[in-house]
Amino acid sequence: MTIFGKIIRREVPADILYQDDLVTAFRDTGPQAPTHVLIVPNAAIPTAADVTARDEAALGRMFTVARKIAEQEGIAEKGYRLIVNCREDGGQEVFHLHMHLLGGRPLGRMLTGGPNG
Ligand code: 5GP
Repeated sequence: MTIFGKIIRREVPADILYQDDLVTAFRDTGPQAPTHVLIVPNAAIPTAADVTARDEAALGRMFTVARKIAEQEGIAEKGYRLIVNCREDGGQEVFHLHMHLLGGRPLGRMLTGGPNG
């Protein structure tokens, strides 16, 4: 099990903002913006490349929870970014699928660097 699996089961501490039967949302411990929240399915889906039709309810819930947390954080009006990193080239470090919700400052262009980094 990954560290996120343990957070979902409340076996390790985290600043959990929301939890229901399908998803859990908690603050990232290495925030890259004033608001940096991770929204994860409770099911242990390793990466975006492992998603199946069975996961669609949880994946949809991740977006509605992102919207609600963005409103609570006061960043909805100015905007924010949702990111899902996938596997090695995507920069994924924790192999439990997660959506980053980032905002609270201008985030600039989508990627830094050009096609070759
Ligand atoms: P990835 O690079 O896999 O898309 O993002 C993993 C994220 O998880 C990183 O932003 C990192 O700061 C965050 N993270 C890693 N370990 C922990 C942890 O134990 N607790 C919390 N809340 N966030 C973590």
